[in-house]
Amino acid sequence: MAAADANAASLHTLAWSPFGRAEIGWETYVPLVSREIRTACPPASPGFAAALAAWEEAQRLPSDGVFGDSDFQRLKGVMETRRPFVQLVARRICPDAPSINRLELSRPGEGYGGKQILLRPAAFDAWRRMAAAARADDPRIAADPRNLTIFSGYRNPDADAARCNAEGNCQGVVRAACSAHRTGLAVDMYVGQAPGYGPDSSADANRLYMSWTPTYRWLVANADRFGFVPYPFEPWHWEWTGEQP
Ligand SMILES: [Zn+2]
Repeated sequence: MAAADANAASLHTLAWSPFGRAEIGWETYVPLVSREIRTACPPASPGFAAALAAWEEAQRLPSDGVFGDSDFQRLKGVMETRRPFVQLVARRICPDAPSINRLELSRPGEGYGGKQILLRPAAFDAWRRMAAAARADDPRIAADPRNLTIFSGYRNPDADAARCNAEGNCQGVVRAACSAHRTGLAVDMYVGQAPGYGPDSSADANRLYMSWTPTYRWLVANADRFGFVPYPFEPWHWEWTGEQP
């Protein structure tokens, strides 16, 4: 019970910097954490604390069932092992972008706001099967045609670098140096947006809102069946793992 009480308190008060930027609380990450530790119990419950303690033990971490930064850093590391692109970048390898004639153009209605999207054909196939399954599973997802539409797929590395320089927004140089979007395997999907924010705003309030949407929750529970893995900081960014970057 003590662990559950500690989690109940920290859920909205933990002061930490899980991605190098100060945040308060860990509610945004509850869907991913719950999925990883295999519990459907709410984060302030004894059941959650017990599942977390079991996961901590399996990970050879201090198994007190109290969520903290060390748990999240381990979870991040585990999730990164499932992203082939990140594994390459960790070895200081930036994969070449595929030639444009190996990419497929979106069909009408697939890009957010009518945007045209390029992806590798097999990634598009997997995304189409996933989006169809999500809409069939949950009428709340089907009710808004924006859900799961793609607002960014393949991005030309040269254009990305130019935009980074022009806007002075290089996402910590990641966008300029080597973005997952160069592979034609990464998709940014509409999962909802908090009032006043856009679908790709990384403002904490927006990411928290996204963490509660049926679309995001469905993705966390099901996307791996279709070969898609998440980037925990951006609820909209998923990478398809069916081909090597
Ligand atoms: Zn992205």
